[in-house]
Amino acid sequence: EVVKPTNFLRQIIEADLEKGTYAQRHWGGTPGDAQHHQQGQVDEAKIRTRFPPEPNGYLHVGHAKSICLNFGLARDFGGVCHLRFDDTNPEKEDQEYVDSIKDAVQWLGFDWKDPQGNNNLYFASNYFDFMYRCAVYLIEQGLAYVDEQSAEDMKANRGDFTRPGVNSPFRDRSVSENLARFADMKAGKLADGAAVLRAKIDMAAPNINLRDPAIYRVRHAEHHNTGNQWCIYPMYTFAHPIEDAYEHITHSICTLEFEDQRPFYDWLLDHLRAGGLIDAPQPRQYEFARLNLTYVVTSKRKLKHLVDSGTLTGWDDPRMPTIVGLRRRGYTPASIRNFCERIGVTKDYSWIDYATLDGCLREDLENQAHRAMVVLDPVKLELTNWAEVFGSADHLEQCQLPALPHHGDEPATAPNRHFTLGREVWIEREDFAEVPPKGYKRLFPGNKVRLKGGYVIECTGAEKDADGNVTKVLATVVPDTKSGTPGADSVKVKAAITWVGVQDGLQAEVRLYDRLFTDAQPDAGGKDYLALLNPDSLKVVTAYVEPSLKAAQPDDKFQFERFGYFVADRKDHSAAHPVFNKITGLKDSWGK
Ligand code: ATP
Ligand code: MG
Ligand code: MG
Repeated sequence: EVVKPTNFLRQIIEADLEKGTYAQRHWGGTPGDAQHHQQGQVDEAKIRTRFPPEPNGYLHVGHAKSICLNFGLARDFGGVCHLRFDDTNPEKEDQEYVDSIKDAVQWLGFDWKDPQGNNNLYFASNYFDFMYRCAVYLIEQGLAYVDEQSAEDMKANRGDFTRPGVNSPFRDRSVSENLARFADMKAGKLADGAAVLRAKIDMAAPNINLRDPAIYRVRHAEHHNTGNQWCIYPMYTFAHPIEDAYEHITHSICTLEFEDQRPFYDWLLDHLRAGGLIDAPQPRQYEFARLNLTYVVTSKRKLKHLVDSGTLTGWDDPRMPTIVGLRRRGYTPASIRNFCERIGVTKDYSWIDYATLDGCLREDLENQAHRAMVVLDPVKLELTNWAEVFGSADHLEQCQLPALPHHGDEPATAPNRHFTLGREVWIEREDFAEVPPKGYKRLFPGNKVRLKGGYVIECTGAEKDADGNVTKVLATVVPDTKSGTPGADSVKVKAAITWVGVQDGLQAEVRLYDRLFTDAQPDAGGKDYLALLNPDSLKVVTAYVEPSLKAAQPDDKFQFERFGYFVADRKDHSAAHPVFNKITGLKDSWGK
């Protein structure tokens, strides 16, 4: 029996559906979502969730968790998940990021179009007019005021955990004065930082977020969507609940850092609902523990530094924990979705082992990635009796192996791979030892092994250069022992080694990636993550690969026998210059 991973949000949603909390909702009793729905129209979604990135960078594996969670809950409960760009901050936002985020969500296998065909792609900046109206409403109700204290005074007067705040001298302005000053802010009559609109709640509240939080600020900056139309912008804590309410979000799921913001979230929506500005029932915020993954950093600032400093090659460097990086490294959408499912959703702070993600990748590729033989550290092996046994030094033996392992009597699910064995083959340098260490079963003088899918051979020695380095391994082929022929088992061997024919092998660039950091928690507890970079996170080798890989297309994944899972690089691979990235090994060997 499959044990469902913990996800406390499922219980909450199940209970809401049972109680009918979100049944019988109608769009736009008030402005509602006038963009997409008719006034009075029934909201057909059982629940609504949203993934609300700020388009100021590339998404990373932590965002993947949020995407899988929000889109996954909507899918499982007959709901709808919105992709909403939280683009209320004029700076740092860019179309490049909007495009990359849409791409990431789709690549992970999710869609913001709902079964009714509605395109649930939203931009918070489209609600600026409505947000402004909400702010004016608060002023009219005596629930907001324009504060013109200096930034320093405002900070000092906020108090802290040990002492209450002090009321601003501007706190008791009249409604009409506040309306006039807010209009001045909007009209551009005030400089950046000269004034903020604040909610009027309680300067002595134990929760500092309720000590008259700022809800609008002056910022003379061009916005990527609204251009120069606005010079005041809503603060995140004010904008986000309104965005949720406007879109009829039912369960607004965020990370635990926002727990302290929930009282303001509710305060604001309670008032706006009382004023008829938003539809009932209003959204509720729920918090879960963010994903912390070992051996990576997920702070946008730190990732950006790795890119800008040239430490990595870009946002899609295969060592980046970004979605574009994971994709280029070869992680599949299914492996990432399974990973997010498996780690569950809790409120407990914890670190997830990177090996969990690799395990999900192996599980996904095990039965679908075609096998191939490659030699990563090549040395030539010559079969010195080849001409004698086969009548010609140029003779080639046709060999084959299944592309996928057969399970019992099941028919093959993929055609066999074909390759040829000739007088010379590439083998791994480590598969020969002049003096074998204890227990060594591969090539040493006098020992027999099988060339996988080919013949049994017997090692006779090696040629060396002046420095004593092996330049060629020598062996003889044992006749009538070819794999798949009746004589195959006539000679027993203890090992089969991987190889690639010199005659039909292809040269390829293979990028051997390893963990980016040497420390499991590279930026925890004030550690200097830059000092913990793994100097061996990338090793590039020139390898020989079997001829079946000639057909590899960018993004195709393979299991290179004995080495692990590899992908044809989506950017650099071509038939003329094959490039393969190592995704992960065959089993978890990190630190062993
Ligand atoms: P910023 O550094 O700009 O605050 P952010 O990482 O918070 O960036 P957003 O674009 O605001 O990025 O995030 C979009 C959503 O992804 C948010 O709902 C956020 O809670 C969620 N998210 C971000 N990081 C993680 C994480 N590590 N685990 C789970 N969810 C995350
Ligand atoms: Mg954020
Ligand atoms: Mg953040």
